Amino acid sequence: MQQYISQLNEAQREPVLQKDGPMIIIAGAGSGKTRVLTIRIAYLMHQGVDAFNILSLTFTNKAAREMKNRIADIVGASEAKNLWMGTFHSIFARILRSEADKLGYPSNFTIYDSQDSLRAISGIIKEMQLDRDIYKPKQILSRISTFKNSLITVKAYFNDPDLQEADAMSKKPRMGEIYQNYVDRCFKSGAMDFDDLLLKTNELLTRFPEVLAKYQNRFRYILVDEYQDTNHSQYLIVRALSDKFQNICVVGDDAQSIYAFRGANINNILNFQKDYQGVKTFRLEQNYRSSKNIVEAANTIIDKNKTKLDKVVWTANEFGPKIKVHRSLTDAEEGRFVASTIFEEKMQNQMTNGQFAILYRTNAQSRAMEDALRKRDIPYRIYGGLSFYQRKEIKDVLCYLRLVINPKDEEALMRVINYPARGIGDTTVEKLTVAANHYKRSIFEIMQNIDRIDLKLNSGTKQKLQDFVTMIQSFQVINENQDAFYLTDHVSKKTGLVQELKKDATPEGMAKIQNIEELLNGIKDFTEGQREIDGARGSLAEFMEDVALATDLDKDTSDEDRVALMTIHLAKGLEFPHVFVVGMEEDLFPSAMSMSTRSELEEERRLFYVALTRAEHQAYLTYAQSRYRWGKLTDSEPSRFIEEIDGQYLEYLTPAETNYRFKPMIDKDIFGDVDKSKLRLAKPSNGTPPKYITDNQPKPETQIRKLKPVSGNAPSGTTSLFDNQLTIGNIVMHERFGRGQVINLEGVGADKKAEIKFEVGGIKKLLLRFAKLDVI
Ligand code: ATP
Ligand code: MG
Repeated sequence: MQQYISQLNEAQREPVLQKDGPMIIIAGAGSGKTRVLTIRIAYLMHQGVDAFNILSLTFTNKAAREMKNRIADIVGASEAKNLWMGTFHSIFARILRSEADKLGYPSNFTIYDSQDSLRAISGIIKEMQLDRDIYKPKQILSRISTFKNSLITVKAYFNDPDLQEADAMSKKPRMGEIYQNYVDRCFKSGAMDFDDLLLKTNELLTRFPEVLAKYQNRFRYILVDEYQDTNHSQYLIVRALSDKFQNICVVGDDAQSIYAFRGANINNILNFQKDYQGVKTFRLEQNYRSSKNIVEAANTIIDKNKTKLDKVVWTANEFGPKIKVHRSLTDAEEGRFVASTIFEEKMQNQMTNGQFAILYRTNAQSRAMEDALRKRDIPYRIYGGLSFYQRKEIKDVLCYLRLVINPKDEEALMRVINYPARGIGDTTVEKLTVAANHYKRSIFEIMQNIDRIDLKLNSGTKQKLQDFVTMIQSFQVINENQDAFYLTDHVSKKTGLVQELKKDATPEGMAKIQNIEELLNGIKDFTEGQREIDGARGSLAEFMEDVALATDLDKDTSDEDRVALMTIHLAKGLEFPHVFVVGMEEDLFPSAMSMSTRSELEEERRLFYVALTRAEHQAYLTYAQSRYRWGKLTDSEPSRFIEEIDGQYLEYLTPAETNYRFKPMIDKDIFGDVDKSKLRLAKPSNGTPPKYITDNQPKPETQIRKLKPVSGNAPSGTTSLFDNQLTIGNIVMHERFGRGQVINLEGVGADKKAEIKFEVGGIKKLLLRFAKLDVI
């Protein structure tokens, strides 16, 4: 043990040796926070703390697994096995299963993924005969998710006139009813969605003091990694559990808080000191991950943020190469640059694929990268796209398995009741749904009693329903006697799923069958692996639990040598020798949706900080001058974030002069096909891009009055900028369209638009939330 402790630096050693009491470690990227947590756990065990009394919460299950493996190396595998380590969702799903009856749930409750939730919401919107264009299922789901993560139950919603008014204002007066119906529907199906796993845990811990006491006594030591991204619901759970012993150690970096859009609350880290008595605060300053160049460049970026804790990050590592900046004409060319760079690095410096990561702001950007990597025969892996378990053919098998475990699971039933086709049509399903609602029973129960209920179904249909019930019941019998592998194999054949796929002889069809084989392999692996663990028997229920909570990042593919492709959000906590941050363009990164308030822009900047600090040795920033977005070729300008890095840390691979946002553009939208000689190239001195203007436009550096953001009265979740500050008649200057006069204003809050007559280019309607506009 001493050997591991001596490998830590002084600042890292202190929190490891501090055994009891509340403590927080705030430190920048790559300073060893995760390593300190890991060693701390091993050291607690070394001091005699029972592994069963330690709870460690991580950002991904993969991170938990890695941590556990390291601890196993130190204290031995048999001891490490007993640690409670995982994501909030996986740990509390486990606890909820053993306490489910208290909340009126079966212990075999299903966990709905977001596909299931969306399906349920779409169903509800249809049943309520609402307009899907106004009640967009995805938006509704995200609103419900926000409620749940803020612990706003249906009852609380209906007691809060402000919330109801906000929904009414955004033309969704029936939001509350949808929320109610969704909660009822999940409950009736014996299902919890992801957010329920936290919400219900909170409910469990508040409503049942004896349960709280049990887990407080159990988890005497609690450790949380990436604390800056916990949401309110997670925060409350941690607080409740640690309340008795107060042995709570959280680590985080406010500069890496990037999940505000999902309800993460940076105040959790800022307020930690207030929440507990006698908090010890530790700071780590030395970065071990990255070269000096990267560390210092990253520091200059985060310095631009106003809201931050003051922190020092330095490194003793060598300077390393500068950050390389590359401009290309199109996104396809950007992909080719990345692929050929990887190819050459591998050739010249004997690097492996696994040493490269390509990070992007949005999933859609992966396509151009994939095309280019494929052409070069470079193996890659995309993390976080559609996970294996969400592919249609796999999900179909899984839904049958879900029914075996929990026949009330309505979303699973709806999905497979008539797939493969067995003559149970929509009308029949509708009748079953109505009856289920009427009798307050699950659809499966209605089907079981179909002879006793008059649904005006012909005898043929009744027979088909009974056959389906019999089939599922026969699977249940097998499940009691056989292992998960045997059952799944049986199910995929007996239901006709495999035969159905065999009808499709195309390569895609073949691939689907291979996927099912892959699923079977996975189950075999799982059941055999589980048998080695105490108390686990490799049952279907155990496997399904694993699947429901699996994220793509969790897959253990350490033996595969592939380039990693993922969004920056997913890359948190990871490190790679070479990192490409692609799509460094305005409106993409920072995202067009996140530029209307300072706090949104600062979150984007933190995201950039996370991206850059993943790199150990070499970082690349690439951007394209045009790219296909929403099916259209759009022009783009380099991201302001490139400009924000001190030039001494950058090396321009493409000529620096035109490299930048300073590339003048003739916008055909504004000028039409004008004679270029009639335009003048204005080079402002204030750092804004040069642009072509006509002679009667004022120079961009003319003193202009900046519009100030207005706070307050905006509907929650949106921002109201420029309200009241723009009036008809104002002369304005637009970054791209030049000078114009406001001729009309319409809409409110985030939807407020101005109609502006530009001197060149005519009348345009601009959404003020996004418009880069100044009053002259
Ligand atoms: P992030 O903020 O990105 O999550 P972190 O603060 O959790 O980073 P770690 O991932 O724990 O940092 O450490 C970064 C790298 O530095 C790892 O490769 C780790 O093994 C290494 N490292 C940390 N501390 C030391 C040390 N004292 N000596 C040598 N290497 C170290
Ligand atoms: Mg970490």
